[in-house]
Amino acid sequence: MRSAECQGERRERHDLSWQFRIPHSAFRTRFVTHTTFQVGRLRCHALEGGRQHLDGGAMFGVVPKPLWERRIPADARNRIPLALRCLLVEHDGGLVLIDTGLGNKESDKFRDIYGVENAGAGGRTRLEDALAALGHRPEDVRWVINTHLHFDHAGGDTFRDGDGAVRPAFPRATYVVQRRELEFARHTNERTAASYLPHNFEVIAFQLVDGEVEVLPGIHCLPTPGHVPYHQSVLVESGGERVCFLADLVPTTAHLPLPWIMGYDLEPLVTLESKRRLYARAEAEGWLLCFEHDPAVVAGRLGREGKGFGLVAPLALR
Ligand SMILES: [Zn+2]
Repeated sequence: MRSAECQGERRERHDLSWQFRIPHSAFRTRFVTHTTFQVGRLRCHALEGGRQHLDGGAMFGVVPKPLWERRIPADARNRIPLALRCLLVEHDGGLVLIDTGLGNKESDKFRDIYGVENAGAGGRTRLEDALAALGHRPEDVRWVINTHLHFDHAGGDTFRDGDGAVRPAFPRATYVVQRRELEFARHTNERTAASYLPHNFEVIAFQLVDGEVEVLPGIHCLPTPGHVPYHQSVLVESGGERVCFLADLVPTTAHLPLPWIMGYDLEPLVTLESKRRLYARAEAEGWLLCFEHDPAVVAGRLGREGKGFGLVAPLALR
């Protein structure tokens, strides 16, 4: 592993393709709790909230399997491992948590179908374990920002306590989401219902925002529609440095090429334009990009791979 990585670093300038391959070590159950990095004055932690395993075909839409399986190999059920990564920012306004993983409320059947591995200590999840490893309790989180309300992003907004009651998982936090995303989640149809589970969001008193807003100094919600119509990414900015939590705009590093878009996306051509627009800014301003679902790579910067896009200076999960 170590020597392969060093070799990778030497090859970096000439060949970026190695960075897309998910090393076999990613398939081991690992318990890295978090990865810490600095953005200007702000200390950030990518928190590992566990794993899920989703159908590889659905994750890559129209991309043929012989192409995507070179980047993320599938298991016997054609599923690929995906992280449930969240971003914690130590901000002057208090701890800010972006997305909350999958939570502890789903049935064994659900957990089997989606290959969920996120159980933590005390009946909670690995997200709470990761917070604890940094010395924080759920009560210490002051802000929760949801990129959207799908179960693998907002499932940890609430938790089921020992008596079976569903309660906010971060009781002192102000939860923020796009106003129209909440409306969209409350008015599902046959295609969207399976992803929006009311127990993840109906007990939360959200602070609703509209479009591009600065929630706290340097914490920007950026509408990046396509996956769902009111999906947002979150840009964290301090001292001229920036990290963007992409969420389902680019769920893994394998989805960096513009046409590699999930089959789950409701409006794939809108995703394409959202990616194009975000990449222009990310490239011009040298943003660090943080990947919510990549099983091996936490973050990296946008680079060119032939005519398309790739990743440079990846920050690997170790
Ligand atoms: Zn997702």
